[in-house]
Parts: sequence; C-alpha cells; structure tokens
Amino acid sequence: MISVEEALEKVLSNIQVLDREEKPILQCLGQVLDEDVHSPIDVPPLDNAAMDGYAIRAEDVTGATNSSPIYLDVIGEVSAGTISDKEVEPGTAIRIMTGAPLPRGADSVVRFEDTDEAQRREHPLAQIGILCQIPKGQNVRRAGEDIARGQLVLKRGTPLRPQEIGVLASIGKAKAWVIRRPVVAILATGNELVEIDQPLPPGKIYNSNSFSIAAQVLRYGGIPQVLGIARDQAQEIEAKIKEALSADMLITSGGVSVGDYDLVKDVLAKQGQVSFWTVRMKPGKPLAFGMIGGVPHLGLPGNPVSSMITFELFARPAILKMMGKKNLAKPSVRATMESSIKNTDGRRIFARAVVRREDDRYLAQLTGPQGSGILTSMASANGLVIVPEDVAMVREGDTVEVLMLDWSEE
Ligand code: AMP
Ligand code: MG
Repeated sequence: MISVEEALEKVLSNIQVLDREEKPILQCLGQVLDEDVHSPIDVPPLDNAAMDGYAIRAEDVTGATNSSPIYLDVIGEVSAGTISDKEVEPGTAIRIMTGAPLPRGADSVVRFEDTDEAQRREHPLAQIGILCQIPKGQNVRRAGEDIARGQLVLKRGTPLRPQEIGVLASIGKAKAWVIRRPVVAILATGNELVEIDQPLPPGKIYNSNSFSIAAQVLRYGGIPQVLGIARDQAQEIEAKIKEALSADMLITSGGVSVGDYDLVKDVLAKQGQVSFWTVRMKPGKPLAFGMIGGVPHLGLPGNPVSSMITFELFARPAILKMMGKKNLAKPSVRATMESSIKNTDGRRIFARAVVRREDDRYLAQLTGPQGSGILTSMASANGLVIVPEDVAMVREGDTVEVLMLDWSEE
C-alpha cells in the first residue's frame, strides 16, 4: 500500500499544464492569466472629486469656521463624465459631483456638509459659504492613483477572481489570455447501473457517480464530457475509453478492486503504463492511474463516497494543475472533535463531518453512518476530518485537521 502523498505525487508527475486561449474576460473567471497585463491608461484618467461638494483652492478658505464662513462665488457646476470649461480663480468655486474631473485652478473639494448650502434657498447659487478650512488635495482622487499608465497590473500566473476581472475591465481590456479549462471525460462502469431517466429494474441502481463527478469537475473549473455507462465487459469499456482520447483527462468509476467483474484495471493493463495502487486511506483504498493514448486516466473506486473523496484528493489537484494553478491544497482548519473515531487498520481516515465555528474555535461532529455507500453522509457534511495512519483513536476534545469541502459562502 502506498500513502496518499505518494499516490498524489505519482498522479501529478503525469499531469501537464494545458495550452492557452484568448477569451472575453467574463468567461475567464477562475482561470489562470497567461500574460503579463500592463495598463495602457492612468486609472483614474484625471484628477477627480471623491465627494459631492465644491471644487476650490484650499488657500482661499484658510481660517474658515462655522461661525465665520468664507464666501466664494459659485461660477458653475460639473458632474461625472463631463469636463468643466471654467477655471476656478481666487475667490470662486465650482459645484462638483463625485467622479467629476477637477476643474482647472481647483486643488481640493470641500464636502456639501462643510458648506452652508443646505441653508440656502436660491437656485442656482450665486455664492457658497465654506465652514471649515481644508488641506490642499482634500477629497481629490489623483490621476493614476489606482493604476499608472504602463504599470504591470496583473502578472502571468494570477488566478482570475471577480476582483481581477474588474481590474481588467478598468483598463479597458476586453479579452485576456488564460490557460484553458481541461475537458474531463467521465465513464461509469458496472452491470448494475441504470441511467437516471430510466425505470429502475430489480437488482439495479442509478448511476449517481457520473453526476457527482461531473459536478466536481465543473466546480473546480473543468469541462465534463459525460460518456455514460460501460458494462463490465472489456470490449465495451475499451470502446467507451476510445471516445475519451480527445479529452485532457479520463475519470472512470468502479471496476478497480479485486472482484471478478473489476475489468477497468485489466483494460488499463493491456494499454501499458499503468499503476494500480491500494492507497493507505479510508474510504477509497483501490485506485488506478495510468496513461491511455497519452491521456491521463484516473480510475476511482465505485462506492459513491469513495469516488467523491478520491476525486477531492487526486482529481481536483490534477485539474487545478492542468489549469495552471499553483495552490493545489484543499483548504483546511484545525478543529476540536465532538465525536470519537477508531482507526483499526492503520489507514488515513477521511470522516464526513459538520464543522461549525463557536467563539474562537472550530468544532467538528461526524455526520453519522460512515459507510462508503452512504452518499447522504457527504450531502450533510461540509468537511472531512483526517485521522492520520498512526493514530489509533481520536477522542472527543482532541484537535484534528479538517479538509473543508466548502466554505460558508458556497
Ligand atoms: P466497484 O468499485 O465497481 O466494485 O463498485 C462498488 C460499488 O459501488 C458497487 O457495488 C455499487 O454499489 C457502487 N457503484 C459503482 N458504480 C456506481 C455508480 N456509477 N453510481 C452509483 N454507485 C455505484
Ligand atoms: Mg463494479
């Protein structure tokens, strides 16, 4: 038996970063930027008002107070998106809205709240009383204060989140070069399987793995290519696998343990370059990995929970690596156990648990029955408690590491 780390290392050593594509920026969410992006413009392009108020020369209002305001002549008004054709000369002010470019001559903006505008009845105003002095530059956003023209804004290798998509938009970049998403072919194997839109004959079960796996592929940024079901028959498995040869990765479920009908491993063996492992973990002991026609093939065990957990541990990092991501580790927290777990055979256990925050710590409680066929135990869990191989027993109150299946915003 090999460890989880060894198995992961072997998988990742056969996975390459994919090639690049250029796309509209909104479609790039979650992908990794494959170019250095320099800004062709200053952002903001011009000095502008950070508040609604009056554009003035700060020196004109030195000594102004509530009880002795300084009065300036109002010579115009400017709103966002337009440029004032007037100049603020000594003793004058231009009424200005947030985002409007600062008129020539002005160096500061005094907020409405620091003027007597609210007390005045006439419209438009001929004069405005300024109720306090302000430092030069007050409430002015400088041209280029966010991004200077020519600046390296985003580096090659940056994963694009909503904020990076916004930054690209702010410099007028409509398309970007990113590492493309992997196409992941998904094949379920088993004589017992029936597609979910069919009646369920006696002795059969619905093919749920193709759906949980396809959803996991989508969640981590890949494009699922669902190939359906292959019976436990070498020719049928081989024929279906041929359909996967244009994909970037093939994931099968089932057929990798030691039963008479576990034929995926035989088919793989025929194609060469194959590793079968029993991985020192629970659930998910049997795992196959190999290259078929140059396509990496990960053979997950059939039990629905094992399939999902081995996906998280091995397929997820493979997908992330293909997408050019560097951080392949699943987020984890340290939590205090509220249940106990026995580890009888020296494997690494991944136990389904609910993690919640209480005061300044996380608490983890098991979701109930932990059989690898109990898929609802995944549905009620938000984390996987790790029991290391060399720990025979985790007791209530012990601190454990928990891989987070999701965070609260998901
Ligand atoms: P296997 O790894 O092929 O021996 O499958 C182990 C068990 O997992 C089977 O007996 C089924 O109960 C279950 N199983 C296998 N494939 C699927 C699937 N696609 N959807 C749901 N359950 C499955
Ligand atoms: Mg099977």
